[in-house]
Amino acid sequence: MPAKGVLVAVTADVVIAGGGVIGTAIAWRAAMAGLDVVLADPAQGDAASLVAAGMLAPVSEALFGEGALLRVNLLALARFPSFAAELEQVTGHRVGLRREGTLAVAYDAGDYAALMRLTAFRRSAGLEAEELDSRACRKLESFLSPDVYGGVLFPGDWSVDNRRYAAALRQAAAAAGVRVVRDRVTAVLTAGGADGRVRGVALAEGGEIGAARVVVAAGSWSGAVDGVPAALRSVVRPVKGQLLRLRHPDGMPPVLTHTIRATVRGADVYLVPRADGEVIVGATQEERGQDLTVTAGAVHDLLHDAMSVLPVTSELILAETCAGLRPGTPDNGPVVGGAGPVGLWVATGHYRNGILMSAATADAVVACLTGRAPAAEWEPFGPGRFLAGKGAR
Ligand SMILES: Cc1cc2nc3c(=O)[nH]c(=O)nc-3n(C[C@H](O)[C@H](O)[C@H](O)COP(=O)(O)OP(=O)(O)OC[C@H]3O[C@@H](n4cnc5c(N)ncnc54)[C@H](O)[C@@H]3O)c2cc1C
Repeated sequence: MPAKGVLVAVTADVVIAGGGVIGTAIAWRAAMAGLDVVLADPAQGDAASLVAAGMLAPVSEALFGEGALLRVNLLALARFPSFAAELEQVTGHRVGLRREGTLAVAYDAGDYAALMRLTAFRRSAGLEAEELDSRACRKLESFLSPDVYGGVLFPGDWSVDNRRYAAALRQAAAAAGVRVVRDRVTAVLTAGGADGRVRGVALAEGGEIGAARVVVAAGSWSGAVDGVPAALRSVVRPVKGQLLRLRHPDGMPPVLTHTIRATVRGADVYLVPRADGEVIVGATQEERGQDLTVTAGAVHDLLHDAMSVLPVTSELILAETCAGLRPGTPDNGPVVGGAGPVGLWVATGHYRNGILMSAATADAVVACLTGRAPAAEWEPFGPGRFLAGKGAR
């Protein structure tokens, strides 16, 4: 890895800007496909990928009017287990994939009515959902409050330990030969002239990396890279999420088996258990630009709602509070495909489902990089929908 401040004269088949789960998954699979890959990222510390809850939840995330997004999320879920298994095999590290399912619970009758409306829609899309009364919910999760009105079990929604997963991706990418440059990509460079093909990237510290193919996968920062078509740069926006990491005190048995998604008087909260005793409680959804502060109000609200449905939460240790920026788009869908000059691809805008979609996104982008067509489910999510014919490929 070159030291900061040193001009690099690196060349590669492909440069990937951004080392969250999206960029790193692409880097790993591209290297496995035989490409010489350089991944550029100044520091992965602020990546949403390290903040996320790790739910793999196409079913409980499915909303009215988002049929195409549901289809690509289902594709992503189907791909995840084999991708994770290969990752575990290559690295020798477990990534914490849990398939116990997700229990959505409603705190009062109004919350239950809303849950039933969504459940009817999800069933109409062919998704599995089992309605449970309060007692049956507590049979599944004995620490749930008796005040819980009722719930629905979504067996098709799983979770992964996103930090273990991200670490395994980095390790697998390194083992596959991916080189990492610790610097920010400021611009995609083109050859100029009539064909205007990509010739590499410029770095913040002053160097360049030469490559005929560039993938911008910089999450909520993707719009800051010059050379990405202007119409696309304004499309991705940061959507702040605050989240808590709790831990069981020594000797305390696990308080949860399933992921719990609760609606408490109209407010949504989730609790995601990990095998190592961590419980994730999330998350806010705020339009505050690049703000990564953690506020007392958010911590209070998340804990209050979590304790309403799972009172034993109060006995867990508050180990960490954090905030991350989801890469949001106007239609809540990812932006994956060729854009602008020949040789430029983007893979961003994964919003609430970037962990879930990482493996399938890597497949789609590597297909593009190697001259194959991505799966049909990706067709609605090309950059062209925002470019209106101005430079989409
Ligand atoms: C609170 C919260 C909870 C979430 N829960 C879930 C969940 O349960 N399930 C799920 O699937 N998703 C979840 N998400 C969403 C998920 O985290 C994101 O969709 C996903 O992490 C996006 O990955 P990414 O690699 O595109 O971006 P990021 O993880 O943000 O990574 C972007 C990387 O690009 C780098 N970078 C920035 N600018 C440049 C540049 N110019 N050049 C080079 N590198 C650059 C950054 O340093 C960073 O490392 C959650 C997000 C949040 C915030």
